[in-house]
Amino acid sequence: MVREVPLEVRLPATHELAIGTELEGVIVRDYGLWFDVQTGAGIVRCTLRGILKRERVKTDLAAVGDRVRVSVASLETDPPEGSIEEVAPRTRSLSRLARGTDDVEQVILANPDQLLAVFAIEEPSPSPRMIDRMLLIAEARDLPAVVCFNKIDLDAAELLGELTERFTMAGYPVLQTSAESGEGLDELRAHLQDKITAFAGPSGVGKSTLLNALAPDIDARTGEVSDATGKGRHTTTWVQLFQIAPDTYIGDTPGMRQIGLWGVEFDYLDEYFPEFQPYLGQCRFRDCRHLSEPGCAVLEALEAGKLHRDRYDSYRALIGGDEEDLG
Ligand code: GDP
Ligand code: ZN
Repeated sequence: MVREVPLEVRLPATHELAIGTELEGVIVRDYGLWFDVQTGAGIVRCTLRGILKRERVKTDLAAVGDRVRVSVASLETDPPEGSIEEVAPRTRSLSRLARGTDDVEQVILANPDQLLAVFAIEEPSPSPRMIDRMLLIAEARDLPAVVCFNKIDLDAAELLGELTERFTMAGYPVLQTSAESGEGLDELRAHLQDKITAFAGPSGVGKSTLLNALAPDIDARTGEVSDATGKGRHTTTWVQLFQIAPDTYIGDTPGMRQIGLWGVEFDYLDEYFPEFQPYLGQCRFRDCRHLSEPGCAVLEALEAGKLHRDRYDSYRALIGGDEEDLG
């Protein structure tokens, strides 16, 4: 099957660049002292302007996903070089505590709009509990989540139907794709449009293959970009963004496991199960944990078939503080 590549991806850089030209863009890679900024005129490799370095000490000054304004400083190099003049305030971020500190935030991805939880329907078989934990991480960070089952070309229709129902009942959009055959990719593309999406999921489920199918010009496995200067040899961060269309970025997020459940308030676990929402506050006891309490609205909904039994069992397992196996 021939896949159609959206025209925009192939658009060449049309801007006439000059020294001092100012451009807006998004940081897509972080090399420590240098940052690659994706602009409408291609990548500009930037340092942080001195004045910026004195601000925001409790978090990273600039991180992958940040929207920035850059000024071009040199056209002799490939990519051109410049400096980051301004970093826009973050809407939200995926972050963790910087090692060896108790109050410094290390940003893994700034401004994510959503999380795409990618799992294979087979090879490797998906673990619904692992998916639940990933969704919990997203909920705890107010990050909308979408479930994507890849490898639907493998014959697993029955399981696909069951799991799709399980997560649809919980209120999540569920996508079904095959990076191999191209099935479902248009719908996936539509979900990604104009957003920064963090791809997360266990290895082997097809994240790189999906990325390559969405943006065939990119080698997702190596993340290779033009690097004549040698300044971009070592990425220091967990994540890099790939632009697949204008204003549309995908970040492969190998750091998801390390973000883990840091910051998740286990007392409020029920609030992280969106399908429980209509029943919360309706239980007889205000501090009801929905385990075996009389007059529990969640248990009543479960008995009435309004909640998926296995999602509820997953909630019970998580309330026991089960933090393993985040994928
Ligand atoms: P990642 O670790 O999540 O990045 O997974 P990869 O993209 O490296 O894919 C792992 C393996 O699954 C590779 O051998 C791919 O060719 C294969 N694969 C990826 N997507 C599909 C798919 O949709 N169908 C099938 N049958 N195989 C796939
Ligand atoms: Zn209850």
